[in-house]
Amino acid sequence: MGAIYYKTENEIQKIHQSSLNVSNTLAEVGKSIEPGISTAELDKIAESYIISQGAKPAFKGYKGFPFTLCISVNAQVVHGMPGAYKLKEGDIVSVDCGAVKDDFYGDSAYTFAVGRISEEAKQLLRVTKESLKLGVEAAVEGGRLGDICASVQQYAEKYKYGIVRELVGHGIGRSLHEGPDVPNYGKRGNGMKLMRGLVIAIEPMINMGRKEVIQEDDGWTITAKDGLPSAHFEHTVAIAKGKPEILTTFELIEQTKAAQL
Ligand code: MG
Ligand code: MG
Repeated sequence: MGAIYYKTENEIQKIHQSSLNVSNTLAEVGKSIEPGISTAELDKIAESYIISQGAKPAFKGYKGFPFTLCISVNAQVVHGMPGAYKLKEGDIVSVDCGAVKDDFYGDSAYTFAVGRISEEAKQLLRVTKESLKLGVEAAVEGGRLGDICASVQQYAEKYKYGIVRELVGHGIGRSLHEGPDVPNYGKRGNGMKLMRGLVIAIEPMINMGRKEVIQEDDGWTITAKDGLPSAHFEHTVAIAKGKPEILTTFELIEQTKAAQL
């Protein structure tokens, strides 16, 4: 875990700008998600869009990652690499995007449906997104970090899903990843106190089957060990009084066909 930095209102505004850029990018990508499109094509769409808005892709070059998006299909959990793979009817596809402008980062992810998907996959997407919503609702001033973690965990575990342990949410600001770690499991009332100035990315990674994951030979892709589908949703959120300030938005994304269940 990296150091924790509290942001000024002006800095939170900058994170908000980058976060909206990411949200708009995910909506652009969502419009193009259909059977037959390659994940490399989606990556190009995202890269051109981010640059057209005067921002820069945050992932490209991060620890040597060569792409704008992480695209993780079906059993792939996160950090999938765009490439020649063409999406097929029935796939679920997690698209994770980061952007940076004026030295501040935004980060968000959404899992889309390619054409018609199974009822089981629909439930996985709904539950993962709802677990994010519950986690976000707990991200308020005066609460504890563990409240967020427990909210995600309790909801996802009701469905007997596997909650990935190896990868977690994070603080965000002048760096894509800062402290604190924001796991998707934990105990209510535990952990650091949530205060204004803290900005975090909350990102449940939920497996339909067991929680164990493996890393693929490409050195990046994380995949569910049992080969069952996995979903991932992420918001960048500023801690505020009473109600969290969600800096990313799914509003435009959810107008695309691939976000309809
Ligand atoms: Mg992300
Ligand atoms: Mg993140």
